[in-house]
Amino acid sequence: MKAIGIDLGTTNSVSATVDPTGRPLAIRNSEGANTTPSVVLIEEDDTVLVGGLAQRQAVSRHADVIQWVKREMGNTTWRFVSASGREYTAEEVSAQILRKLAADAERTLGEPVTRAVVTVPAYFDDSRRQATKDAGRIAGLEVMRVISEPTAAALAYGLHERQAGVCLVYDLGGGTFDATVIRIERGDFTVLATTGDRNLGGYDFDNRIMTWANELVVGQGAEDQFDDGGSEARLRDQCEAAKHLLSQLDSAPIFIDSGDKHAKLELTRKIFEELTADLLTRTVEMVEEVVQAAGLPMTALDEVLLVGGSTRMPMVGRAVERVTGRRPNATLHPDEAVALGAAIQAEILVAAETGNASPVGAPQINDVTAHGLGVIALDDNGRERNFVILPANARIPQRESQLFRTVVPNQTEIKVRVTVGDEEDPADVEIITRDSQGVELSVPPYPAGSPIEVFIAYDIDGTVHVEVMDLVANRSLGEFPIDRRNNLPQEQVERLARDLRTATIR
Ligand code: AMP
Repeated sequence: MKAIGIDLGTTNSVSATVDPTGRPLAIRNSEGANTTPSVVLIEEDDTVLVGGLAQRQAVSRHADVIQWVKREMGNTTWRFVSASGREYTAEEVSAQILRKLAADAERTLGEPVTRAVVTVPAYFDDSRRQATKDAGRIAGLEVMRVISEPTAAALAYGLHERQAGVCLVYDLGGGTFDATVIRIERGDFTVLATTGDRNLGGYDFDNRIMTWANELVVGQGAEDQFDDGGSEARLRDQCEAAKHLLSQLDSAPIFIDSGDKHAKLELTRKIFEELTADLLTRTVEMVEEVVQAAGLPMTALDEVLLVGGSTRMPMVGRAVERVTGRRPNATLHPDEAVALGAAIQAEILVAAETGNASPVGAPQINDVTAHGLGVIALDDNGRERNFVILPANARIPQRESQLFRTVVPNQTEIKVRVTVGDEEDPADVEIITRDSQGVELSVPPYPAGSPIEVFIAYDIDGTVHVEVMDLVANRSLGEFPIDRRNNLPQEQVERLARDLRTATIR
């Protein structure tokens, strides 16, 4: 069974495979392109159209079209309601994209595709990683592993070049930003630190142009373009197209039709760069942060890799060169590198399973957690505090523990509330256990102050396990995987997987 690599992007997705000589290649979709827009159109009869055909109708049929669904992964309150009134979760919509990629890969490769390595932003927390796996499951794919996009990009870069040294991966896509420092040594890849913002990408640059253009035309007496979904979609289209032109030209036109008014605005590169300067600055600050978190001076960077469509904006390369003192390496394909890396990872996993030698060798990939994991407990002053047990940038897989004590005499239960975040204040972190009150465990009636040890284990896939030990009796009180409140219950995932198998998709 073929295992492919999939970059499930905010705006575009790409699938890839490794040829028998070990060369990773992007897989052509049914329209003949290597990138498939992550756009889904749902018809009134709930048949589904994915990719370029859906994207071309994004403006004319904006109410039936879903874009940027990756931003909603792990958001349990988000739903798309189709014309028929059926509700779709973010996982289901992503599953439609995955299914189209797998179907196209089957056609192009001429063999069944049932397994995949899927990439996510390094900064995705574990519920968003789980949501991505669930999307794969709904699509009928076995997601062998979820890996971080910058790690995949480094794999695509370092595997061929057999380079050694420290790389910064600057990944600015359609919806997310990641900055990651990776050491490549003797063909092995070790992530030293990662940071990012899952809501900072090309989309936000487009928003700035939209607001600017809207203010100008409203000033000229036109209707507010944000008042109507169709006008807003048209405006977004125009503004994104202008942004693309500005990567080549100094100035680009934006046409706005509003009622009987027709406006032509001229956006210069200078104005665009002013409108978005703070967004770029945020990415630069995160570059500084991540290099510092890796414990390195800027001068220790041997290579700077740019990934993601938004790195085509000339100001990105300039800003990254300014802050790192290095000219970014231009050999990576900004749209395909991540999928190529995922395909390499899939090949490595298959080879490890079958025991066959892999044409891509057997590089070791060591990743880190992007976010701290901990539990809420009372501190010495009797106040609730978040105790980080596994800090951000801890190497995974990893198992760490912290000692706590029971609070009152004969306490017979403890509640374990697992958190994501590195802050001490419980208000600043996210409780990820399904019940916000935590998982309840029974303890024998001991005196107050009896020792309890809480272990948190983070596996290579981003799954979190918790184990609680009663140190008085030296026995485990229980071990449980986190039932995350931000994810679909597994029965629902299975049901949706059955539904999708019978649904029509084009
Ligand atoms: P990705 O998610 O990596 O496919 O990146 C998609 C983002 O890259 C979208 O926001 C695009 O508008 C942006 N993008 C693609 N090409 C260009 C370009 N030539 N100039 C500026 N942004 C671009």
